[in-house]
Amino acid sequence: MRQSQLFTKTRREAPKDEVSKNAQLLIRAGYIHKEMAGAYTFLPLGLRVLNNIMAVIRGEMNAIGGQEISMTALQEPEVWKVSGRWNDEVVDIWFKSELKAGGEVGFANTHEEPLTRLLTQHISSHKDLPRYVYQFQTKFRNELRAKSGIMRTREFIMKDLYSFSKTQEEFREFYEQCAEAYVRIFNRLGIGDKTFRTFASGGSFSKFSDEFQTVSDAGEDTIYIDERRHIAVNKEVYNDETLDSLGLDKTYLREAKSIEVGNIFPLGTKYSAPLGLTYKNEAGESVPVVMGSYGIGPARAMGTVVELLCDEKGMVWPESIAPFAVHLVELSGGNKEVSAEAGELYRTLTEAGIEVLWDDRDLRAGEKFSDSDLLGVPLRVVVSEKTLSEGAFECTERKGGKTQHLSISELQTRLTHV
Ligand code: ATP
Ligand code: MG
Repeated sequence: MRQSQLFTKTRREAPKDEVSKNAQLLIRAGYIHKEMAGAYTFLPLGLRVLNNIMAVIRGEMNAIGGQEISMTALQEPEVWKVSGRWNDEVVDIWFKSELKAGGEVGFANTHEEPLTRLLTQHISSHKDLPRYVYQFQTKFRNELRAKSGIMRTREFIMKDLYSFSKTQEEFREFYEQCAEAYVRIFNRLGIGDKTFRTFASGGSFSKFSDEFQTVSDAGEDTIYIDERRHIAVNKEVYNDETLDSLGLDKTYLREAKSIEVGNIFPLGTKYSAPLGLTYKNEAGESVPVVMGSYGIGPARAMGTVVELLCDEKGMVWPESIAPFAVHLVELSGGNKEVSAEAGELYRTLTEAGIEVLWDDRDLRAGEKFSDSDLLGVPLRVVVSEKTLSEGAFECTERKGGKTQHLSISELQTRLTHV
């Protein structure tokens, strides 16, 4: 993509109404646009990152047997009345409206009830189980506070997977597989070393769930970390009984603020029993399906990456999710030969399947470099009169700032071996 064609502009100053670092940087760089408190539009660069994050998650969910669907965001009250969750005292973040034709409608804040009901039409025998269904779908939540930028919004896409198993044992096996997939996801997003599987409250069957918490002062949660085992305990369940059951010793735990980037929940038969999702076991008896739910907020994960990996100059994207692999910065100052060389490099890399953002704008070098630092593309390649005379491009890693002078073939090798 040619940067001269990009409709978004960078800005020097952070918007005054944003307190979180992720929103300040993403807005300054033109990745997102704030529509109102707790609601952001994803612009071309931001959408590329979000799509890359979703692709990483999708790959891992498919690898453990997930089948992707897309449910509606409009939900009818009846199914929620069966579980008791239509009640505003039970679920305090509902957005609801009225239909012109009469009656109420809800805007999805989660999908256990409608999906459980849907599956009653497809699951009847033990041969139909286990099954794993997921989606990337818009959730609406009337959150009281929306001060964490894209990490807590009132409208957001969630990856929500639901597992349907015959027995507790079968459920547990998948639960652990999904936990492992989550570890791989957060590693691939570049935040694995700071993300801890965290013992937390909230499961319907066992009363406990597992959260994936990333250490950051921008977080709203507090956890106690055991670095040696790379696990943690959420403050809400931090007591002697929990620590004993996990074999954790208080003296080795470190308190930290953290961001809940994902979580996995045992649901037991909380939804399958009231909604009638049962199967016939081999003895011919009708048994409720054992369920679990598994969420990740791609935008919250994106905000977390910004919070953790940025520096004083701007964002620093890991190669796995960066909007482009290369930021080609042309410093031609009107020199046609330099422009031609930049164009040639752009075509060669693009044809090799490498995503390139080409800064072909007529601006001073200083402005181009500060924009480049702000945007955070992993590798900056400068084409100038100097590089032309040297016969090698100046390639600088955004992370760490290491510079190398590479020929086009060396550059291609470097980019295809990441
Ligand atoms: P929190 O305690 O932070 O409100 P939650 O327990 O409500 O999170 P879930 O309902 O389990 O979270 O949602 C699954 C995932 O969706 C979370 O782990 C998080 O990554 C993401 N998520 C939840 N609420 C939001 C939100 N308001 N904005 C963006 N992402 C969210
Ligand atoms: Mg919540």
